[in-house]
This record gives sequence, C-alpha cells and structure tokens, in this order.
Amino acid sequence: MTTDLAPPGDLTSEGPPGASEWYRRALEVMPGGVNSPVRAFRAVGGAPPFIASGHGAHLHTIDGNELVDLIASWGALILGHAHPEVVGPIREVVSRGTSFGVSTTAEVELAELICCLVPSVEMVRMVNSGTEATASILRLARAATGRPAVVKFEGCYHGHADAFLVKAGSGLATFGEPSSPGVPTGTTSDTRVARYNDLDSVSELLADGAVAAVIVEPVAGNMGCIPPLPGFLPGLRGLCDTHGSLLIFDEVMTGFRVALGGAQERYRVIPDLTALGKVMAGGTPAAAYGGRADLMRMMAPEGPVYQAGTLAGNPIVTAAGLATLRYLAAHSDLYQRFDDAGVKVSVRLGAAFERAGLPGVVNHVGGMVGIFLGIERAGSWDDVAGIDQALFKRFFQAALRRGVLLPPSPFETWFLMEAHLDGVLDSALDTLSEAIEEVAR
Ligand SMILES: *Cc1c(COP(=O)(O)O)cnc(C)c1O
Repeated sequence: MTTDLAPPGDLTSEGPPGASEWYRRALEVMPGGVNSPVRAFRAVGGAPPFIASGHGAHLHTIDGNELVDLIASWGALILGHAHPEVVGPIREVVSRGTSFGVSTTAEVELAELICCLVPSVEMVRMVNSGTEATASILRLARAATGRPAVVKFEGCYHGHADAFLVKAGSGLATFGEPSSPGVPTGTTSDTRVARYNDLDSVSELLADGAVAAVIVEPVAGNMGCIPPLPGFLPGLRGLCDTHGSLLIFDEVMTGFRVALGGAQERYRVIPDLTALGKVMAGGTPAAAYGGRADLMRMMAPEGPVYQAGTLAGNPIVTAAGLATLRYLAAHSDLYQRFDDAGVKVSVRLGAAFERAGLPGVVNHVGGMVGIFLGIERAGSWDDVAGIDQALFKRFFQAALRRGVLLPPSPFETWFLMEAHLDGVLDSALDTLSEAIEEVAR
C-alpha cells in the first residue's frame, strides 16, 4: 500500500511537530479534533495542548510545558496521575492478559467492595462508561415500575443516551424536547425536566403516576458545582415514595469523590439505584450501576431485563478500580482534607474576586469546585446561565499562560486530587489570583 502521508515526526524540517501541527492533523480526521467534545477549546480559543505524560498533580505537554491539572480527567482521577498504587496493579495484571470474557476473582472482590462502601448498593453490575450505567438503570427502572416517564433536572448530565439528551422547555412542567439532532422526539417524549433545588417543580411532574424514576446528580457537577440545598435530596426521597417512583442517584461524578460512600453517605439519603463511574475505575474506562437487590435481580440472566458488555469488568479496569477504592478506604481522612482544601479555594479566590471588584461565586463540595464568574448566586441552571463567558475565556487563558490548566468551559467543575494537597494547590491559588487580577484590569 502506498500513502502520501508523511510519517509522524517528519512534518517540519525543524524538530518534532508541536501542538498546533498535531491539532491541524487531528481536525482532518476527528470531528473537532477530539474524541469527546468537552476536550475542544471552542469556548476558550486556541489550540488545545497535547499531553505526553502526567505525574501527580501535573501534566507534561509535547511542547515541554508543565501544567497544574485541575481537570483530573474530568474527575476520574482522585489520587493523581500515574499513582504507583494504581499503575502498579494494572501493569501486573496486564501481563497476564487484557480480557477473558470469562469471570475473574477480582470482579467479585470489586463488587464486594462497592457493595460494602456505597450505602444503597446491595448488588452491582459493571459496564464500560457512565453513559451505559445510566441508560441501563433507566431500562431497569421502567421495567420494575411498568411506567414510561423519567424526571431529570435542567443542567444535569447523565451521559449521552437519547432519553437524557433533553434541555428544559419553557416551563417547569414542560415535556422534553431533544437538544441534539438525531434524537427522535419519541425517545424523549417521556423525559420530563425539573428545576434543580426546586421540589415544587418535581412534585408537579410526578402527580400523574406515570414516572418510573427521578434521576439526579446529588451534587450537580455538570453545570459547574452546585450543591443540593438542605432538604432537597430528602424531599426527593419523600416525593418518590409518595408517588411510587424510584429515586436514582447518578453518582458517576460524586461517587467515592464527595465522601467514601458518595453523596448518599454525605447527605444520608438512600436512593433505590445508583450509577457509578469516574473515580470508581481509577482513570480507566469503566463504570457500574447497582442498588436494591430485588431490583438488580431483575437484570439478565437472573431476570428479564437485558444488558450486557463484552469487555465489562475486564482485568485492567477491575485492577484499577480495586486499587483506587482500597487506597481510598485505607486513607479516608482524605475526604476531610478535600473539604478543607475546598474551603481554602473558596476563601482565596473569593478574596481575589473582591479585590478585583468582580462578581463571582465559588461553590465546593469535597474535591469538587465550581467557579462562576459574573454572577452573585449559583443554585440552579437559571442562575449559572447568566455567567460571563467572555470573562471566563480571558481568565482561562491567563491561567494557562501561568501554567494552570482549567477545564476549557465555564460550565465545568474543577477537581482536586490528593496530589494537589501538599502545596501545589497553594501555589496554583496564587497563580489563579494573579489571573483574576489580570482579567479585571
Ligand atoms: C461523566 C458523567 C456521566 C457520563 O459518563 P461517561 O463515562 O462519560 O459516559 C454520567 N453522569 C454524570 C453525572 C457524569 O458526570
């Protein structure tokens, strides 16, 4: 076979190609140059960096820059990059095979550990992504209740399954409209959208008894970090019980992140079903869903609800998950340290906003941090929709020039890792305070 493509590394006469050249090549062969849209720099401008390696709290780019990483693989990493206690076991198992399609003992051990740590989870099924976990949970909830509808909240993300790709309509009781082309209205006509932190908006939607489940991010993290108001999660539990609907916590982001047992442990509200992902798999592609045993026993092959996965629970992801969860269970003081660090971020950046005369909100729960520029309160999508996107763009670039990589969108949560906590965070906060000063000028 002949090809007229130059081999990598041979594109310029002066040294290896840099990020802008790789970005040009990426744009030719991948939509937007990326494998997930959140990675594109559309909201902030410029070519995204290409990463050669990560170590602890830092990323190293192919252009030789070292960046403090506040993306943390979108929350999937909680310890740090290339943590020896996670990478070691992966290296060890991979030499014995990557996937068998037949059971391993490590899968049982991981399932036992998840059932032990997450209060609502009596039985669990592993899948490959958070999207699969929530899509499977919805199928189970519909099968268990014999009801068609699902209630979600405006601004909450539950993966990209059709039924969840709905933005809110014009009013609280509005039935969903697809927010992506290619999603037929038939698939979303049973998706109802409520307002986060607003119980009245939920009870209206449950009244007709057609709702299989209410699904919620118990700490919202996909519109920046928005904590539940006191009473919101217990109120959802009560409303679901009253109306015979199931309560689903999508803890793909919050699981093992805001407490060892997730948001359900932190806020002491027990859902019927829980989706897990991100931290659960220690930065490898895996997720899980679980909950009440009577519900989980409805899944094939024990029950009639079908869901399967060729690579589900393979040795690599299972080893990464086990290593991460065992580390967290043995170092559970980490959660208090994340809370303390969140307070520090809030105080330091809050003061920087004030000095600069900029309106801004800093929310935090555990290692999740939400920075909202240009608004005074952030409790629901309506609030955060008003953020100053142009200001964020300048802030992002000012931070990046100083060596701190933020998520490239004003609507994303920042994530802390254990590796940030021994001094990296302090110097990053100095840097970010300078960046705030710069953009206020
Ligand atoms: C990331 C995320 C998902 C989707 O998980 P993927 O592994 O990206 O499919 C679902 N729900 C929540 C709350 C998430 O944060």
